[in-house]
Order: sequence, then structure tokens, then C-alpha cells
Amino acid sequence: MRHSALRHLFVPLLAALAAGCAQQAEKPSSGVQRMYVLNCGESRTNDVSRWSPGVNVGQPWDFSNNCYLIRHAQGLMLWDTGFADAVAAMPNGLVIGGGMLHARMKKTLVAQLAEIGVKPADVNVISFSHFHPDHAGNANLFAGAVLYVQEAEYEALFGAAPQKLGFQPAAYEKLRGSSTVKVKGDRDVFGDGSVVILSTPGHTPGHQSLLVRLPKTGAVILAGDMVHFESNWTNRRVPGMNFSIPESRKSMERVAALMQQHGAQLWINHDKAQSARMPMAPQYVE
Ligand SMILES: [Zn+2]
Repeated sequence: MRHSALRHLFVPLLAALAAGCAQQAEKPSSGVQRMYVLNCGESRTNDVSRWSPGVNVGQPWDFSNNCYLIRHAQGLMLWDTGFADAVAAMPNGLVIGGGMLHARMKKTLVAQLAEIGVKPADVNVISFSHFHPDHAGNANLFAGAVLYVQEAEYEALFGAAPQKLGFQPAAYEKLRGSSTVKVKGDRDVFGDGSVVILSTPGHTPGHQSLLVRLPKTGAVILAGDMVHFESNWTNRRVPGMNFSIPESRKSMERVAALMQQHGAQLWINHDKAQSARMPMAPQYVE
């Protein structure tokens, strides 16, 4: 009696295990499945010519600010973390740099992730275009992920004078203890060519962009702050505040060549008009 009862339990269990194995074997281990574009705040400046020297002097301008969550067969990767979620609780937003920027946030990054069933601890890989506070605001929430960062950026972040480069160490302090991959140049994150970090220094010492090959949309390059809006891209304009203007120019030319090579679109994070055309999370792009 006991034996047959066990048998009844055991046989379906074995069958279920076998089916599970078969499913696992069929599951692809490569490729991007989808990408979510998350609204990680918005900001307004009273003078856009800080980003376009000599052009539109004294004109106000609105910026979008996106984060991107990539669901790859091997795990979840988050690209940029936006303004700090604390901004969402500020009724009048956050004034930065003595009025240079006025940031607002409708919904926290954590809340947007929750809507798509993701907790910060679920993110396996974290990487940043660079570490200015509009990109690294929530970095500390992802200290458990593997961090991919350019060596030059890392040295500046934890060096003697990060504030001189506009970094705010309190926002990313916990990443000190993260499992870290220091990158020098480009890096194929999952080893299948589907997500490739592109070295695009200039805005900061270790600025990077990201090539993502989506299954239906095709190749896109997430610009980071390699360029801030469309007309700066068309005219190859470089903000006066960049860490290196010559490096910034080189990076723009490099991305233009890579776009041709891969037939890639350029997704400009801070371009509000372009961002308005994106399907935002909980929608996604494939
Ligand atoms: Zn930015």
C-alpha cells in the first residue's frame, strides 16, 4: 500500500521533471527578448545653449530621461537608473545646479519595475551610460547586480574628486561592493552580440552607449549623453560642459559609422520629441 502510494507520487514527479528538462533544453540561451523604456524623470532648463553653444541662447528646453530594461535569455539588464526616486515625492520637483535644471518625476523607477513584475534584486546586470545624477540617481538599489563600467569612469567615481566631474558619490556608494566588470573599450555583455557596450567617451571620461539587437525592431544604439537631442546630432554640436570636447566629437563620428555598419537606429535618451514616440513601460519593444 505504501509503496504504491509512493509510486503514484513519484511517477508524475519524474514525468514533470523530464518535461521540465525538455523545455529547458529548447529554451534559447541567447538573444534579446524584449526591451522596456521606462520614464525615469523629466527636466527643464532655462537655457538650452548650455548644450548647444551659441545656439538658442536663453531659450528654455524640456528633456526626457529614460531608463531601459532589457530582457535577455540569460537575464535582466538595466541601462541607467534615472533621477533618484526621491524626486517623485517632491511636489515642486528638484532644482539642480542653481536652476540649470529643474527635475520632476511622475512615477518612481521601483514602481514602474513592479508593474512589470520586476524587483530591483531581480536585475542581473547593471550598466550606466555615465554617472551624472540624472542617470545614477537610483544606482544604490542595484548593488546586487553585476556592474559593467568603463575603467576610466570607475577611477573617476571612486577617485579623489568625483564632484568635479558632476558625480554625486552618495548615489552610487553601494556599488563599491558590487561584483564589477571593468571595461576598457567595447564589451559584448552576453557573448552573443545582442547587447554590446560601446565606448563613447567625452561627456564623461568613461561614457558609453549601448548597441541592442532587438528581435523585431532590429539594431538600436542607446545614445546615453553622447548626444542630447536631434539637432545636436544633425549638426554635431557638443555641450560646452563636456569633459572632453574632442573626444565627444570622435565618439559622435564613431557612433555614426557604427549605425551604418549595423543598420542601427539612434535612440536619444534626452530627446523629448523622440521619447514621446516610444512605447513606454509597461509596453515594450521587441
Ligand atoms: Zn543626462
